[in-house]
Amino acid sequence: MSAEQQLDDDREATLRRLAALTRDLEALMEATADVPDDEHDPEGATIAFERAQVVSLISAARRHLREIDAAVARLRTGAHGICERCGSDIGHERLLARPSARACVHCTEA
Ligand SMILES: [Zn+2]
Repeated sequence: MSAEQQLDDDREATLRRLAALTRDLEALMEATADVPDDEHDPEGATIAFERAQVVSLISAARRHLREIDAAVARLRTGAHGICERCGSDIGHERLLARPSARACVHCTEA
């Protein structure tokens, strides 16, 4: 599979995840809409916790989408697969595992 195809698939999966998470969040918002905002209500606290988790998953998915877009842009300019820090080849294996990687494994670990 080409890097472009892989990024495309990753984007689709991420968009689907984002849509599902957005639906979850809407459901949680509806569930809390008619519950009085009482911090001592254990159910309210659980819902607030779930909502915070969904919100953080949504922002992670959005961040991932931006990484994918950036990788696609680098693919077009020919910069994809080249470490941003040291300029060396990121390597096929690493790109397969993480198509949006911007740095080689050595620079990432450093
Ligand atoms: Zn490097």
